[in-house]
Amino acid sequence: SEPKKICIVGSGNWGSAIAKIIGSNVTKFDQFDNEVRMFVYEEMVDGKKLTEIINTTHVNVKYLPGKKLPENMIAVPDVLEAAKDADVLVFVIPHQFIKNICKPLVGQLKPTAVGISLIKGFDIAEGGGIALISKIICDFVNVPMSVLMGANLAGEVADEKFCETTIGCRDATIGRMYRDLIQTDYFRVVVVDDVEAVEVCGALKNIVATGAGFIDGLGFGDNTKAAVIRLGLMEMIKFCEVFYPGSKLGTFFESCGVADLITTCYGGRNRRVAEAFVKTGKTIEELEKEMLNGQKLQGPQTAEEVNYMLKNKAMEDRFPLFTSIHRICKGEIPAAEMVDCIRNHPEHM
Ligand code: NAD
Ligand code: 13P
Ligand code: CA
Repeated sequence: SEPKKICIVGSGNWGSAIAKIIGSNVTKFDQFDNEVRMFVYEEMVDGKKLTEIINTTHVNVKYLPGKKLPENMIAVPDVLEAAKDADVLVFVIPHQFIKNICKPLVGQLKPTAVGISLIKGFDIAEGGGIALISKIICDFVNVPMSVLMGANLAGEVADEKFCETTIGCRDATIGRMYRDLIQTDYFRVVVVDDVEAVEVCGALKNIVATGAGFIDGLGFGDNTKAAVIRLGLMEMIKFCEVFYPGSKLGTFFESCGVADLITTCYGGRNRRVAEAFVKTGKTIEELEKEMLNGQKLQGPQTAEEVNYMLKNKAMEDRFPLFTSIHRICKGEIPAAEMVDCIRNHPEHM
């Protein structure tokens, strides 16, 4: 059969790091076409188009400076142009933009195409609930979706420092194809079939990481942060039990679970900005602009999405960590109240 064409939908910090891996791996397998297209949301950088900079220098100077992208990776500013001939679509954009990016693709993709989402977050759903991002993508473009989540700070992956990741995929053949596309000596893939729990872990840990940053900003110690990580993990497990029944406990011990929680609570952007939020008194939005040079936070918005559902279902008390982190982000309570909010956590009863 014809070699599969790959399109990466997104070109931020993580999008560029994964593009480096995929661009290299496609040349190692006959099953993949050697040219990879990357949708780049166009912007001007120092008076030049970012797509032109990437296609001439092979560096995403804005979102992954200093790291060479493979020369077979072509930046394309039009999402439909990038995606229309693809057999495999890798979705990796900040979750707040997913609907607008999918709209031009409706009814335009190959009927045999498959997709994988690396996106962490939820969407607000009608009727007071939330929806998985992979479900939103599938509703728009009608391709079978898998997910990839793990302890994968993009800068470290781009530096080729060893890590693991988790792919959630229901079809073993497609799962093997994704492993070939994405695994390297330093980026090890484990494929599991508990797809929803993998995705939920990836989304929820960003809320906990925001809480870990508040704890750092308040000057608490490592023991306190460990308590926040543990209670966060317990709320993640509870969340899956209540809203995604059938999820397996073992999934929380994959890279997408406890490992991503740990790395993000120590080395992530959500943690860093949340710490500055406490120390400076500026808003999250101001700090995101000031500190991240166009990169986007997922934690505060995910906390809001989760709270939208918990509030509607009168379940805020059962998730006091998620709830207090949301209220702190919104300025409804001072950060110093976080520990009070979790002092009598249901896990202590
Ligand atoms: P990012 O945080 O670097 O965001 C910047 C990207 O957003 C740029 O490509 C920019 O062009 C794009 N963008 C800005 N405004 C836009 C708009 N209006 N419409 C469409 N695109 C727009 O992105 P990222 O780090 O690649 O993160 C993507 C997803 O991957 C997120 O869900 C994140 O949680 C997840 N993730 C990130 C990391 C990491 O370490 N960065 C690791 C694992 C997972
Ligand atoms: P941050 O968005 O907090 O940097 O987390 C990145 C991540 O998801 C690592 O796996
Ligand atoms: Ca090839």
